[in-house]
Amino acid sequence: MLLQPRLLPRVLSISSKPRFSPFSTHASQITIPLPSPPILSPLTPESDLDPSTQNPITLPLQKLFVPPETQLPGDATSASAHTRVLTGSNIVLGPYAFDSQVVNAEFVKSSVRTADCPSDGLPEFALVGRSNVGKSSLLNSLVRRKKLALTSKKPGKTQCINHFRINDKWYLVDLPGYGYAAAPHESRLNWEEFTKDYFLKRETLVSVFLLIDASIPAKKIDLDYASWLGQNQIPMTIIFTKCDKRKKKKNGGRRPEENAETFQSLISEFFESTPPWIMTSTVTNMGRDEILLHMSQLRNYWLKH
Ligand code: GDP
Repeated sequence: MLLQPRLLPRVLSISSKPRFSPFSTHASQITIPLPSPPILSPLTPESDLDPSTQNPITLPLQKLFVPPETQLPGDATSASAHTRVLTGSNIVLGPYAFDSQVVNAEFVKSSVRTADCPSDGLPEFALVGRSNVGKSSLLNSLVRRKKLALTSKKPGKTQCINHFRINDKWYLVDLPGYGYAAAPHESRLNWEEFTKDYFLKRETLVSVFLLIDASIPAKKIDLDYASWLGQNQIPMTIIFTKCDKRKKKKNGGRRPEENAETFQSLISEFFESTPPWIMTSTVTNMGRDEILLHMSQLRNYWLKH
């Protein structure tokens, strides 16, 4: 099991890169209407901003993820004219959101140890989640290739750290799925050890993208995983998957938004500030462009510092 005792001392990040801190202000919530026309920052090419990624949203300020060097004006009136929150997320778009599109993607290598991972220093994002959460589907959708993630599903590769190079500039990393009931107990423990080692030691890891199935209620193993990341101060973005799936209310089903909200409140005590989250579906493509824009702003900031 991944969950550490509550009072485990927080380990300091080994990476010397700056961490992303929350925005603080006196206003308690912010309503962000669609600017018309959208106000673009000088660093954001218009082609990166699909108008559908701009959406009115009301969230308490402390629940927004505000990327570094993104200033929100102190009063909500002026903030509304300058603030863009990605649709279906709590993520404010900042000045580093550019160059988000995937032009090419290639499988580079499978590693069994962190020390064997590529050493060219390019920034990377790790995708992780319970088996069947939709990780391969999401990876294929991000790179717009039907079968790229199949590489990670080949026998012998499922327990590896699989690196995919994007635009020759950054990596998407596919980590082993956890919670696979059929896996032998021992091999399950091994995966956990090596993924933890990767999270704690990989200096080029910009953020973990933890995939959570929003079509079902929160599972303990997912809560354990998220809290371990929080307690160890590993930067994390939550990707809620399968948000197109709506169970019938009369069958006791809860909407993906409700499941997502419950999950967030259950893990909130393990995080100093609200982690970024995005609702997605590979069936409708919901969240795809938002993930890429979010990755671009984290990545560009990381590269500059
Ligand atoms: P992985 O084991 O995490 O790599 O999961 P897969 O990508 O193989 O997906 C597991 C199952 O969930 C497959 O049957 C997919 O078709 C389905 N699935 C994946 N993403 C979505 C989604 O966004 N919506 C719906 N409805 N089904 C999905």
